Amino acid sequence: MTNKRYLPPGALIPFLDALPETVVKSVIGQSVNDLPIHLLSIGKGVTKILIWSQMHGNESTTTRALLDFIPWFLNSSQKSLQEAFALSIILQLNPDGAETYTRLNANNVDLNRDAINLSQPESKALNNLYHTIKPDYCLNLHGQRTIFSAGKKGETASLSFLAPSANIERTVTPPRKKAMQLIVALKKTLEKVLPNQIGRYDDSFNPNCVGDKFTQLGSPTILFEAGHVSGDYQREITRKHLLTCLKTFLKTLITNDCNHSIEEYFNIPENAKDFIDLIISGVTVIHNGKNYFEQELAIQYQEKLKGDNVIFIPVMVAFASKIPLKSHKKIKLSKGLIDSPLHFNKRKMIKISNLTSLI
Ligand SMILES: [Zn+2]
Repeated sequence: MTNKRYLPPGALIPFLDALPETVVKSVIGQSVNDLPIHLLSIGKGVTKILIWSQMHGNESTTTRALLDFIPWFLNSSQKSLQEAFALSIILQLNPDGAETYTRLNANNVDLNRDAINLSQPESKALNNLYHTIKPDYCLNLHGQRTIFSAGKKGETASLSFLAPSANIERTVTPPRKKAMQLIVALKKTLEKVLPNQIGRYDDSFNPNCVGDKFTQLGSPTILFEAGHVSGDYQREITRKHLLTCLKTFLKTLITNDCNHSIEEYFNIPENAKDFIDLIISGVTVIHNGKNYFEQELAIQYQEKLKGDNVIFIPVMVAFASKIPLKSHKKIKLSKGLIDSPLHFNKRKMIKISNLTSLI
């Protein structure tokens, strides 16, 4: 069950049941639809780390990485880490969204835009936990779409990070600086296996985002975005890289090997929306009775839950003689005539200049 994008709360039960007694299991709240929000408390060290995943229900890659990370941490060979750290891990902050494979919770609220209002039970549960634990570090785990490149026209952004701002001026406050230095340490390790595939998220301040708020409250917070490796739509390769990231994070803290400069953080290329899933070239498109020869079609996949599988439905978003984007896959038709390409939706036919705004 756990090697797929769809990871409903029920799929975690065998994992939770099999955890040893050294893991303290508790429930920190109920979701809108009354599902329990589980907390796992592991380790007896003094450095407290709060980790939460799947606050967006359709972002399961980081949760699956935690399913690999937790047994690794619990292994007897990691005794020094167990004695150094106290981990508080929420595998799914948004169990309702995980059930329906939706970003939003059951009240259609984005939990990562609810940090001030705390209007949702899931937001309250995380906020209460934060104030109970007073963590030294926070890891805010997410997944990102296939459209991102690491820098303008860069490679696919397989992992992206952010040290969230704590104010509108985006000042490098001490907690933010620490998060930046840790991100540089992660990047230096991961770039060996993901060259030019690591991006940095836009740092505009948004006090409604949880990471911004916790940074404001004084905890160095890192936003992780599990991204795309071409061809890996189930995100099993990214899952492995995330595991490396989590291990590296703890090892960096324990060795205190992160005296990196802020410039190194800002040198990580900022994410751009320069990718699309598929470009089909050599196509004749008939649109409004007119023929367009030798066109390229830009296809973006829409994720949809079918049974207990996430399927990827190709949707044509534009055609042009040259699509100004990179693609994860290219197909060249030798003699193609498409008058109703794939799930072509005429209302979605747009001028190429608007393409990036659409995706
Ligand atoms: Zn997210």
